[in-house]
Amino acid sequence: MYWIGQSDRFDSRPGSCSVSVPVPGLHGSSAVGLPFWHPEHTKLMDFNNTRYIPMSRRRRIYEGKAKVLYEGPEPGTLIQHFKDDATAFNKQKHQVIEGKGVLNNRISEYLFQHLNDIGVPTHFIRRLNMREQLIREVEIVPLEVVVRNVAAGSLSQRLGIEEGTQLPRSIIEFYYKNDQLNDPMVSEEHITAFGWATPQEIDDVMALAIRVNDFLTGLFLGIGIRLVDFKMECGRLFENEMMRIIVADEISPDSCRLWDIKSNEKLDKDRFRRDLGGLLEAYTEVAKRLGILMENERPAGSGPVLVKS
Ligand code: 5GP
Repeated sequence: MYWIGQSDRFDSRPGSCSVSVPVPGLHGSSAVGLPFWHPEHTKLMDFNNTRYIPMSRRRRIYEGKAKVLYEGPEPGTLIQHFKDDATAFNKQKHQVIEGKGVLNNRISEYLFQHLNDIGVPTHFIRRLNMREQLIREVEIVPLEVVVRNVAAGSLSQRLGIEEGTQLPRSIIEFYYKNDQLNDPMVSEEHITAFGWATPQEIDDVMALAIRVNDFLTGLFLGIGIRLVDFKMECGRLFENEMMRIIVADEISPDSCRLWDIKSNEKLDKDRFRRDLGGLLEAYTEVAKRLGILMENERPAGSGPVLVKS
């Protein structure tokens, strides 16, 4: 059982970067003054005993390039479904790679669960099956937050820095989430002037981005992988009188650059973007090194599996 806002999920200890902001008038005022996660103003939910709703009867909330969001079994929850579609260059390039969604679901589950465990608040509740996870419903901040440790991709192109050059320090960039505009890079000035996020929210997003980068850099280093860069998204979680910023969406080889430490082999979506082939093998290698997949496990997960007694 989880209390919404229970502190084992969302860190409310002093020193945590996440903050709880009262939202005046959101749900009346009875709970004002209580701690953020106090049971008085929370609702008991049994996330381990999720009602099964057949896929055909679920209400689809949103369909993106690689994921679909469905209405969840309880208020304030959604089901995030990982598709096999790979797209790049704003959908100009598209391919269905069977098994990619299964791998991303498992890898993202692993990373988000570990972030939850170390007190970085995320939308992840639990994995439901091979392609789906139960998540908390948030209002997505319309920004892609990119953290870079090593020069690659658009940074190398834009500034003429050779790919693979270690950056003097980690760099955080913001891109406005808008497919029609090709997700343009924006500054804090744009973000606050156009009301996409407040200065306080930008501070929270940056603090989360630094914590996620520190954690992921160490985690991947331990399995012989360099975290070159990654993209993350954040959402506003509204609970009773409070709002706070948490990590949302997914973190997977679709949204990270992951290079093998020794060979510099790319183990991420650049294999698709740059026509290198072997995307499924690369994602499987990441999953195996994380200890998610056993040596002989089939990644695709589709079709019946013979269970030997
Ligand atoms: P770049 O700006 O160099 O193209 O990308 C920087 C990092 O952010 C890379 O790890 C890349 O995978 C990720 N990224 C940037 N935009 C997107 C996006 O729209 N979708 C996904 N999945 N990842 C992105």
